[in-house]
Formats: sequence, C-alpha cells, structure tokens
Amino acid sequence: MTTPLYESIAEDIAASGPMTIERFWQIALFDRKHGYYSAREPFGRSGDFTTAPEISQMFGELIGAWIAGAWDQLRRPSPFLLTEIGPGRGTLMADIVRTLRSAAPACLAAARIRLVETSERLAALQAVRLEPFDLPIRRVRRIGEIEDLPMILVANELFDAVPIRQVVRHGGRWHERMVGLGEAGRLAFLTGRPAGPLPAWLIAGGRSGPDEGTIAEFSPAREGLAAEISQRIARQGGAGLFIDYGHARSAVGDSFQAVREHAFVPVLDDPGEADLTSHVDFSAISQRFSACGNTVSPIETQGAFLLRMGLLERAGALGARLDEAGREAIRNDVQRLAGSGEGDMGALFKVVAAAHSPLTIPPFAAPAGD
Ligand code: SAH
Repeated sequence: MTTPLYESIAEDIAASGPMTIERFWQIALFDRKHGYYSAREPFGRSGDFTTAPEISQMFGELIGAWIAGAWDQLRRPSPFLLTEIGPGRGTLMADIVRTLRSAAPACLAAARIRLVETSERLAALQAVRLEPFDLPIRRVRRIGEIEDLPMILVANELFDAVPIRQVVRHGGRWHERMVGLGEAGRLAFLTGRPAGPLPAWLIAGGRSGPDEGTIAEFSPAREGLAAEISQRIARQGGAGLFIDYGHARSAVGDSFQAVREHAFVPVLDDPGEADLTSHVDFSAISQRFSACGNTVSPIETQGAFLLRMGLLERAGALGARLDEAGREAIRNDVQRLAGSGEGDMGALFKVVAAAHSPLTIPPFAAPAGD
C-alpha cells in the first residue's frame, strides 16, 4: 500500500526527474491537501509522537514563567506581541496563558497573542483550544505578516519540522542526496549535483575529507526562518526562546527519520502519513540569531534549562495536592522532560534564546556572583 502522496511524488519524478530531499520533505509534510501537517493528527498517545507540552502542564508553566521574566527584563513593553510559531494543538499557549493569568496578570494584560501556523487544520484546533480564555488572538501564516511591535516569541519543535538538504561523499566530492525512482518504480535515494551552495563548515573539512559514503545534512530553510525571526527581534525589540531536538555543534551524520505511531519507519515509504524530522543544528541557527546584533544565549540542554526554571519546585507543589499515584505520575513526567535516559528528552533536546538586549534569565548566563 502506498499513500496518495507517494503516487503523486513518483509521477512528478517520472515526469521531471529526481527531487531534492528538501522538496520531498516539503511535499510530505506541507502539501495543502495530503501533507502530514494538513491531514493527520500527529500528537499524543493516539498520534505519532508526543511533544513536551503534551507530556505535562509543567512545561508550559515554566515557559510562561520565562515569558513573564523576559517581559520584566525588557522593561515591560506594553503592548507587546506574545507570539508562538508552530503551536501544534495549542497546548503550550494554553498553559502559558493560564500561568500568566495567575502569576503575571500585568504581563498578560499587555500581551497581544499571535499564532504563526502554516496548517489550516492545526490553526482550527488552536482556536478551539484557546477560545475559553476569551482573549483577542490573531493567527497568521507567516512571521512576516505580524505587526511591528516588541515581541516575545516561543517555538517548541518548530525547526525540526522544517526541511533539510543532504549530501553524500563520493570520489572526494559532495553530491546532493536526491529522491528518484529505483527498482519497480519505488522511491529510492540517488545522487546528483549539489542543488545549491554548501555550508562553510562542510567545505572546511580538511584536505583528506570525510570517508566515502559519509552523509552530511544542513538546512537553508531553517536558517532562513531563524534569520527572519532574528531580524524581527532586532528591529522590533524583544526576545525569543527556541526548543528543539538537536546538537550544539555542526557535524556530519544522517539524522533524517520518519515516525509513525510512535515507531520509526523508512523515510521514503509513507509521505504524508509519517512525520519527518532531523536533528536541529543549533550552532547554525544560533549564528543566524546573532548575525543581526541580537544577544544569543549559550545552548543549554532542555533538562538543565527546566531545572534552572524551577521544574522540581513546581513538581513538588503539584505533587503536594495529589495521592501517591499522582506523585508517581509527576515524577515520571519530570524524568521524561529533564532526564537523560532512553526515551527522555532532557539531554537530547536543546534550548537557545535570543534577545535584542542582554537578559539574565535562563538559558542566558546568570549574573556573576549568583
Ligand atoms: N509546538 C507544538 C507542535 C510542534 S509540531 C508542540 O510542541 O506540541 C510543528 C508545528 O509547527 C506544527 O504546528 C506545524 O504545522 C508548524 N509549522 C511547521 N513549519 C512551520 C512554519 N514554517 N511556520 C509556522 N508553523 C510551522
């Protein structure tokens, strides 16, 4: 059984030749009719994967505390845009608003909520989720549609959904990894000429170069999105917090993967019906954040960030109201969010923040003597 997109991608390749991974990914996730984010319910136990805000309300509460802290340190701009890009089911924003309402009402009163979402289906879910708060919320499709006001922005698992390119080392050169037709007309990886410039870190690989068959990946689309966000923060004033799974340093390797019903599947087999992701190169996006003059934080693990934001204190306060089974559930959530064991997010996920003026909240360095 193949998916509808499998058929149309195969027809496209038969007619026009192999396509880049970037294009395959763009169609598989974002095709308006059959794309994964347009058509499927990705999140939660019955979906394909679980994100941090879907694991526990504590995640959104701590991000809410971060927003209140950033707003304070930015000297309480009023009004300001409280923006989320890629809000999924709206769970994170709901937890943020609930937290601000009780812990920082002045911040919430100054906030104009903006949701940047490409998927019509998810935008509709977000609207339903946030309706009970009875706040004016505006949804836009692109960051460029947002008005010019100071902005505090969050993005959780945004960049890992944005397409990448891959190249393969053969005969002392990098070749683009392409999707073409193999045996029996099945989608298969082929190589072609580089589809665009290669990143400097890859070219500076030394004279001998990497071994034959080495795969490297990078993402002009992610970096372009980071640059666009960064320019808005530099121009309008404000701060952004970005959480994703990935690595702190650029390096060769293949992390392209497809997940369906919480299990890995071959990346080319189910376009539109499996989620596609790859590790985010935090060093590459950090460079974009600093390029237009913003202050950029160190890259911190999600575990360290959440602990610095008070995860254990919050877990203790929630647990105090529960029975032993409830406390056990909270301990499991803490482990999943901040731990570094198999299946835990604490070490695999990284956090970086950018701001137009220096801040001292995590993941920025604490002031000396703290
Ligand atoms: N932040 C949510 C969802 C993560 S999934 C959570 O943590 O649960 C990725 C989300 O980003 C989806 O909502 C997807 O539709 C959206 N998205 C992907 N690319 C985007 C882009 N370029 N601009 C805005 N939203 C995007």
